[in-house]
Amino acid sequence: MKKRKIWVAGNWKMNHSVGETTQFFESLQSTFSANSSEESSLRTATLENRVSVALFPSMLSLSPAMNCVKGMKTSLSSIHIGSQNTHWETKGAFTGEVSGSQLRDLGVTLSLVGHSERRQYFGETNQTTKIRTESLLAQGFTVIHCIGETKEERLAGQTFSILKAQINEGLPESLTAETGSRLIIAYEPVWAIGTGLTATPEQAEEAHAEVRRLLSVRYGEAQANDMSVLYGGSVTPENFPTLLALPNVDGGLVGGASLKPDSFGKLVQMGCQA
Ligand code: PEP
Repeated sequence: MKKRKIWVAGNWKMNHSVGETTQFFESLQSTFSANSSEESSLRTATLENRVSVALFPSMLSLSPAMNCVKGMKTSLSSIHIGSQNTHWETKGAFTGEVSGSQLRDLGVTLSLVGHSERRQYFGETNQTTKIRTESLLAQGFTVIHCIGETKEERLAGQTFSILKAQINEGLPESLTAETGSRLIIAYEPVWAIGTGLTATPEQAEEAHAEVRRLLSVRYGEAQANDMSVLYGGSVTPENFPTLLALPNVDGGLVGGASLKPDSFGKLVQMGCQA
């Protein structure tokens, strides 16, 4: 049994309309019907506080997704719905942005920060990830903070130095035990995202162990040992069990395989059995 909390988190990116969001939950609900093994695994894992399941739909689908989850009659009612990105200010002249207080108004208190697509296409930097994560933790949010190297950086032997900069420059300087319990790290090698190229178990464990060592230098060993570090990058039901078996991997942040209810349901069940 894993010693840290497992997260099975699905990032839908700019996929699924409002109608498709509702259909996704209806279909997931029918696979988790009263006596299915999925239902009993998730019920037990949720009761024992071992697993958290989360989905990050587009902003337009947040409210419908929250309503679907509230209406669930199975253990799926424990699914957390989160925002793919959140501004650090609570309100103001920031056209196109969404604030933590607006999200909280919908009941959303979970956010991704620093996804590599935000870094690559929308100018996210270690400095902006830091203020987002600090602001969200101060507002009571749970944050999944993404880090990871590009293919060029890996080929140049810079993986560890990139992770070090993303952690030291991009995360809050200090955490309390309480804010630390709401900060989750997702190690997502950029070359593995949406490419079908998953990190080998050796590559994943090596990077996760280094992430935990860097967290321990920054926040102390006890805090680092409690923090969940998720792997992301072409996770599928086929490779998830191998990744979950690695000592420093505490779940997955999943793009493509979270879009279909059947594959997402399988990933949830695997997380519950880890
Ligand atoms: C992601 O979007 O964070 C991701 C890991 O995508 P995929 O699983 O499709 O590689």
